[in-house]
Amino acid sequence: MVRAGLIRQLGAGLWTYLPAGWRAHRKVEQIIREEMEGIGCQEMLMPVLQPAEIWETTGRYGIEEMFKLEDRKGSPLVLAMTHEECITHHIAREVRSYRDLPLMLFHIQTKERDEPRPRAGVLRTREFTMKDAYSFDRDEEGLRRSYELQTEAYARILDRCGLRWYRVESDVGMMGGSGAHEYMAPCAAGEDAVALAPGFAANVEVTELHDGDPGPSGGTVEVVPAIEVGNIFKLGTRYSEPLGATFLDEEGDERPIVMGSYGIGPARIVAAAIEQGADERGIVWPCAIAPWQVHLVSLAKAGEPEREAADRLYEELREKLGAEVLYDDRDAGAGEKLTDAELLGCPLRIVAGRRGLAKGVVEAGERATGAEHELPVEDAAERALGILQGLHG
Ligand code: ATP
Ligand code: MG
Repeated sequence: MVRAGLIRQLGAGLWTYLPAGWRAHRKVEQIIREEMEGIGCQEMLMPVLQPAEIWETTGRYGIEEMFKLEDRKGSPLVLAMTHEECITHHIAREVRSYRDLPLMLFHIQTKERDEPRPRAGVLRTREFTMKDAYSFDRDEEGLRRSYELQTEAYARILDRCGLRWYRVESDVGMMGGSGAHEYMAPCAAGEDAVALAPGFAANVEVTELHDGDPGPSGGTVEVVPAIEVGNIFKLGTRYSEPLGATFLDEEGDERPIVMGSYGIGPARIVAAAIEQGADERGIVWPCAIAPWQVHLVSLAKAGEPEREAADRLYEELREKLGAEVLYDDRDAGAGEKLTDAELLGCPLRIVAGRRGLAKGVVEAGERATGAEHELPVEDAAERALGILQGLHG
């Protein structure tokens, strides 16, 4: 990701996203946003900087990964590592009766965690973006339905992002609650591991099975490294009870709201997609999260007629057809430009060079398959778009 110009390091576990990396990250965010809205989960925004008090109330102020600070008056504050406390604080003040439920809310916001071992790269950083959603129901049956809706949305998110992934049962960990699942994307860079067999996937931390054991429904268990990209929890009343988030049921009895929380990390999705797809020449983006759909390379210098043809193609792709185009009009050698296009890995590379243009064509290459097409200059933009539509499937 560093070599392809997506990110740069500022400090241990602290990374800046450069334009190309941020475009991919934003695409993942947008897919997540659409799928959350699709299940009736509404977007909001909560602060990163929070009073310590709500964390003391739930007994999580002592967590070692929490960054703590004080304001000028000496009031204790924290940098939020997740948002159960904050959202439950609000819900306790907004929800009155069973008529206000069920309710699902999410935000896409910065999290701060003093990770014991921040890793090189964006897999485990001390500041990262998370989509965290929260569900509020009257009872366990309601929670089961909300959890199911989130589960379906997670499947669509990860499929749309082009990942190979497994959903496995997990430990409830620091969240507390009655059940949890993790979403694992197998790839060599992963810090976690999953045990896989035909019709079976489990977190190695919760299964008794080992590499080479017979699988529960046939085959052999294989343990492979994986990146945990998402984690969902049935929280029950773990947060609503201490923070007083209750509602009045039909009989007028006061009962604690039953909650779920649903996290997913866009940075880990981007990293997992890169790891799963890359070849020896560089990134091969899934179309849906590529920073640009088209990487247009002009091999001519400013002022040359071939350069004007490339400029025109750029305008046409962008303005007439609304395509996302990265235009390499640098004054650099052909070899360097083509190598960079392979490394950055946009789905379609179009080269406007002297030789092709003399024949009236530009050359389009599909990054994933290596398939090459000669496109007549007159309708190159539309033909390119046709190829892209085919790639999107
Ligand atoms: P891990 O077990 O890897 O530490 P976690 O269980 O702490 O993850 P959650 O608190 O459930 O993670 O957060 C939800 C999602 O946020 C994770 O699935 C992951 O995608 C992302 N995430 C968590 N911690 C980090 C981190 N330090 N850097 C980048 N993304 C993270
Ligand atoms: Mg963690």
